[in-house]
Amino acid sequence: MRVLIIEDEKDLAKNIKRGLQEEGLAVDTALDGEEGKFMAETEPYDLVILDLMLPKLDGITLCGGLRKKGIKIPILMLTAKTELENKVEGLNLGADDYLTKPFAFSELKARIFALLRRGNATELPVLKVDNLRLDPQKHEAYRAGDTLKLTPKEFSILEFLLRNKDKVVTRTMITEHVWDYNFESLSNLVDVLIGTLRKKVDKKGQKKLIHTVYGIGFKISEDL
Ligand code: CA
Repeated sequence: MRVLIIEDEKDLAKNIKRGLQEEGLAVDTALDGEEGKFMAETEPYDLVILDLMLPKLDGITLCGGLRKKGIKIPILMLTAKTELENKVEGLNLGADDYLTKPFAFSELKARIFALLRRGNATELPVLKVDNLRLDPQKHEAYRAGDTLKLTPKEFSILEFLLRNKDKVVTRTMITEHVWDYNFESLSNLVDVLIGTLRKKVDKKGQKKLIHTVYGIGFKISEDL
């Protein structure tokens, strides 16, 4: 899951980013409306956290612009108490939820995961291949009924492979989806994590599901 924070208060943006990274999400930040608009239009995010008052381009215009272009990413708007009227305007223009500053991080987290779940609910609720199951809402994965103990990054990679079942994903695709913008592409790290993931998912005696496609990347499939 990849989240974009568009917020000009640097410390707030940094704190939200750190908190969400600890939850296993990949997070990018933009400090003004124009940069945020560019990133939201060009990168595949699962959620945007959008501040209302921003330099260069305000949150309401930005939100309306994205919706007009048919971009349906869930948007959580942040507003100050004095901006109540704008909040209503924001929701009319296509924001999915709003939160009034100052807020507790636990509240922000609850809203974010509710929006991410809503997004998933319209797709596959549980992802499967053979006897491997991954439940994005519960954040759990099982092989033959046994819970797999995965790190947040391993879980993200497994979820990404399963969402692309039977298709080859490249190391770059994995890196772009699982890490954020500033991550220096170390394809070696992808191989290391695929290695640890394999040990947990494809144990001895189990059918092999994670395949290496030499020279290209990886795929998860029941077939070879
Ligand atoms: Ca602001």
